[in-house]
Amino acid sequence: MRVVICGGGVIGACTAYFLRRRGIDVTVVERTEVAAAASGKAGGFLARDWCAGTPLDALARRSFALHAQLPEEIAGDWSYRPMSAYNGFVASDDDARRTAPSALPWLSDGVVIARRIGTVETTAIVHPRKFTSAVMNAALAQGAELRAGRVTGIARRADGTRARGVEVDGDVIEADAVVIAMGPWSLLAAQWMSLPAVYGQRSPSIVYDLGADVPADALFLEHEDDAGAVSIEVFPRADGSTHIVALSDIAPLPLDPAAVTPNTDAIARLQIMCERLSPLFRPEKIIARQACFRPVTEDGLPLIGKVPQSEGVYVATGHNVWGILNAPATGEAMAQLIAGDATRVDLSPFDPARLRPLDPSLLQAH
Ligand SMILES: Cc1cc2nc3c(=O)[nH]c(=O)nc-3n(C[C@H](O)[C@H](O)[C@H](O)COP(=O)(O)OP(=O)(O)OC[C@H]3O[C@@H](n4cnc5c(N)ncnc54)[C@H](O)[C@@H]3O)c2cc1C
Repeated sequence: MRVVICGGGVIGACTAYFLRRRGIDVTVVERTEVAAAASGKAGGFLARDWCAGTPLDALARRSFALHAQLPEEIAGDWSYRPMSAYNGFVASDDDARRTAPSALPWLSDGVVIARRIGTVETTAIVHPRKFTSAVMNAALAQGAELRAGRVTGIARRADGTRARGVEVDGDVIEADAVVIAMGPWSLLAAQWMSLPAVYGQRSPSIVYDLGADVPADALFLEHEDDAGAVSIEVFPRADGSTHIVALSDIAPLPLDPAAVTPNTDAIARLQIMCERLSPLFRPEKIIARQACFRPVTEDGLPLIGKVPQSEGVYVATGHNVWGILNAPATGEAMAQLIAGDATRVDLSPFDPARLRPLDPSLLQAH
């Protein structure tokens, strides 16, 4: 059996790895580079039970366990480490800032820690680009193939229903099964098959290089300034980089993943917020000002499963804010599904058939 995976983000890489572990032939087609989009620019934060009470719970728990297991199975260092997590707020006026010493010594006065919300048993982090690359490299070492190119359509057998491969830059790569894992660009696949809409939600982030100055504590803080209240998330990683994200906005998704850029006003506002959090966040310590698009569906749950009315075509996308967390269990489940086995995690809440397909005429401009 031969499978072509469209997209070399974290979902494509994990799917390739678990398919290869079963001895299934895999080709990944990536138009830009591995982890070029959100999978290279995310925070990388992982939580075992923050999806409790939602349809994502079993997927998240299985994935959290796989994240802890993969460093034993795969070569490479992607800075996996268990960590604590806290929530709190940033005092909004100068007086309050002076009189509210922070509970964490590396933070400025006025950054008030309210509660510990994760422990080293329940929360962890990876460097998402390094994780995605390591998993892809493990798949390649086991015989998977990585092809540079842009998927432009599905090639079908003469009967018109079953896929026989994908069209890539004018050629056809033959396959018995095709997996759409193009993150928010999976939207384009709704031109080729009956697929619900996948939207892109942009977030800017700043990455600082602070070495070991920042302890392994993730922070989820409410911050208020003249422009309003926002949530800001701080993720110190084991390689010394600290990723800070806030301020999602709605922006058109560029057709080319390499053309994704942040809004300069949002980055400037985020930088000011960072400087209020700690004197460690100095401009000369910034190593990236960036943005990426999370893939989001109409009901907020991912699409994982067979594409309706397209025999041999599968989709795995729409993981929203938990794509790095949920990638390993998604890849494992996709490999089980394609091989015809029972899936360890029940995929029925993520069945693409639960949502109405996008009207392809809405995409004609593309
Ligand atoms: C700022 C930010 C912070 C985040 N933080 C976290 C976090 O802390 N924890 C967490 O679990 N999740 C987090 N996420 C979410 C996570 O990053 C995403 O859910 C996940 O990376 C999506 O992975 P993907 O493989 O589906 O898509 P992507 O990473 O978007 O990958 C899709 C790939 O497909 C390729 N592609 C597109 N079109 C084509 C084509 N026509 N042909 C071939 N290839 C194509 C692209 O080049 C890209 O490499 C965050 C997201 C953002 C934006």
